[in-house]
Amino acid sequence: MRIVFIGPPGAGKGTQALRLAEALQIPHLSTGELLRQASDERTPAGLEAAKYMSTGQLVPDELVQELLLERLEHDDCRDGYLLDGFPRTLAQAESLDRLLTEKGIPLSMVIELRVDEHEILSRLAQRGRKDDDQTVIRQRLAQYDLLTRPLLDYYRQHRLLRVVDGLGAPDEVYARVAALAQPA
Ligand code: AMP
Repeated sequence: MRIVFIGPPGAGKGTQALRLAEALQIPHLSTGELLRQASDERTPAGLEAAKYMSTGQLVPDELVQELLLERLEHDDCRDGYLLDGFPRTLAQAESLDRLLTEKGIPLSMVIELRVDEHEILSRLAQRGRKDDDQTVIRQRLAQYDLLTRPLLDYYRQHRLLRVVDGLGAPDEVYARVAALAQPA
């Protein structure tokens, strides 16, 4: 299965995505994690990405795409993967489509984890990751609204979108997620 997870920062997307990937026994690929790793390793791409991440901006498409495409070439991605945090722009979605079309393999589904903005602000305020101060949080939400939200329509038109209510205890939310994607 090839699954894309979409949701605003603070929706609990990472936790749910990881759990689903484990259940399906496919790699969980988080572009946020790949970028943080590159930044910790102080590679040129990582240092460039860090400038954007620290202010809550999206990292330029080409930089993220390069990191992810390299990761997708690894053997463990042969039978599927779960993408967490990619695509985040229409250009990224189109680039993923091109790649999958070239390989003749479709996406299985796109899961939107939906949580309202008020709830997100209170969750993010408690999380305390280093880029999570209030200004950055608002900036990340604004970027989500502007650049990522249009993807929901895009995938709805492609009949791939499944919406999950992200409100509630993590186990409750996971039960909704798991109901969509059963192991083969
Ligand atoms: P995340 O861990 O998914 O919340 O991502 C953390 C940060 O990494 C985001 O705020 C962006 O700056 C950057 N990032 C992660 N994924 C992408 C992506 N697909 N496109 C652009 N920037 C990204």
